[in-house]
Amino acid sequence: MNLMPVPFLTNRHRYRPLLNRLATLFGGMDRAYAAVADQYGFRCNGCVDSCCLTRFYHHTLLEYLYLVEGVRALEPDLRRTVQKQALTVYTEMADADRRGEALRIMCPLNRDGRCMAYTHRPMICRLHGIPHELRRPGGEVVKNPGCDAFFNQCRDSGTTVYIRFDRTPYYRQMAMLETELRRKTGYTDKIKLTIAQMLVSTMNGTYEID
Ligand code: SF4
Repeated sequence: MNLMPVPFLTNRHRYRPLLNRLATLFGGMDRAYAAVADQYGFRCNGCVDSCCLTRFYHHTLLEYLYLVEGVRALEPDLRRTVQKQALTVYTEMADADRRGEALRIMCPLNRDGRCMAYTHRPMICRLHGIPHELRRPGGEVVKNPGCDAFFNQCRDSGTTVYIRFDRTPYYRQMAMLETELRRKTGYTDKIKLTIAQMLVSTMNGTYEID
C-alpha cells in the first residue's frame, strides 16, 4: 500500500483559498441535502450498519488536505487517540487484504457514533442516507437508492415518492477545484486512500499534524 509523500503540505497558505471554496461548496451541498432529507422526513440517528464501517476510497488531494485540517484542529489528546486508532485500522485492513478477506471496520474518526472531523469529512460521507443521482459525462444517470436506515424509515412512514437529489454539480465543482489545486501544487499522482490511510500518511514522516 503506497502512502503519498506530501512535502508541500507545509505551504498551507498557498492552497488555503481553495480549501475555503471547498468549505463553501460543502456548505451548499449540506443545505441541499438537508432540504431533501426534510421533505422525506429522514433523520440519520446512527445505526448498527453504520456507513462509517464501509471502506470508502477518497480520490482528491483537496479532500485529503481538508480532512487533515479538521484533524489538526482536534484537541491534542483526542488527535493522538484518533491517530493511534488510524494505525490500528490501517494495519487490520492491510492484514485482511493480504489474506484476501473482506473486512468491515469502523472509520478511525468515528467515536461513539460521532464523526470527530464532521465539518471536514469528505464528500462521500455527506451523501450517505437519502437517494441521490449522478449524471455521467455521456449523459447516463446513475442512481443510488439511499441507505438501509433511509429505506426502513421511509417504509415505516409510507413515503414512496422519489425526490431528486442531483450530486452532479457538486462533483463537477469539486473536480474543478481539484484541477486548480493540482496545478498550484504540481502534484500529479493519483490518489486512492481510505480515511485510515490518510491519517497514517500524516504520521509516517511525510507530514506531521502539529
Ligand atoms: S470521516 Fe466521519 S463521516 Fe466519514 S466515515 Fe469517517 S467517521 Fe464516518
